[in-house]
Amino acid sequence: MIEIVPYNELVTCVKTASDMNGSVVMWTYAYLIGDTLLDAGCPNAAKEIEEFAANNPVRRIFVSHTHEDHLGGCAVLTPKAEIYATPPVAEALRSPESLPDFFVMVWGQPEPVSEVLPMPEKFEIGELSLELMSLPGHTDHMVGFYERKRGWLFSADAVPLPSEKQLAMPDENVTEMIATMEEIQTLELNILFDGHRGPVEAPHEYIQKRIDYLKELQASIKELHSQGHTIPEIQKNLGIEGPWYMDMTEGRFRIDHLIRSLIFDEVPPS
Ligand SMILES: [Zn+2]
Repeated sequence: MIEIVPYNELVTCVKTASDMNGSVVMWTYAYLIGDTLLDAGCPNAAKEIEEFAANNPVRRIFVSHTHEDHLGGCAVLTPKAEIYATPPVAEALRSPESLPDFFVMVWGQPEPVSEVLPMPEKFEIGELSLELMSLPGHTDHMVGFYERKRGWLFSADAVPLPSEKQLAMPDENVTEMIATMEEIQTLELNILFDGHRGPVEAPHEYIQKRIDYLKELQASIKELHSQGHTIPEIQKNLGIEGPWYMDMTEGRFRIDHLIRSLIFDEVPPS
């Protein structure tokens, strides 16, 4: 499925999702500015993305990170569009991993892309000037795009969608995710262009809520851990319950990843 929602005079939201008998589990947002896309939507919407691009030519795509819901449209947009990515993302674009069935259903399996150009530190789109910003935590390599003059940050998955994050992926460093959000809070920011929530106005308040929740959770978890409690005991003690789909993710999203990360993961030295 695709929904095209103009946001302001420059930015158009390109929302994609899988069609689950007419309903949507989750939207992922790419943003079109002029002839440039920031991220490229999910693979299950590739056909609609291709049709959209027939009327709205896309000449460049800048990809934030390796996940299928952010790079899935790239394959159908090349070779007309140039794709820019950091080395880990370029690798994922060239040889996409086979995904568990659940994610093939929710987002789709990406098709490989042969040509990927190096991500520049800075690029212009018309009157906008975007700077690359490192946003580690959700993945160790994720980047966002910051438009300093307007206070816009295209933040991909840097800020968790539920205000109370219950699950993590095995390679998520949630401690670093908190540090990244704190770094974002130091920016002059008017709009956060989130990868799943869409444009967020009053972003500082939105982000702070998530920082406060995760820091409080981390303190409680560390306290219980220091008293000798195991991870399953900590989960039970804090009453953290996973959503209905958790087991279907085949271990890609788990409560114990979140707890373990909040106990053991640190912010790597820069
Ligand atoms: Zn992601």
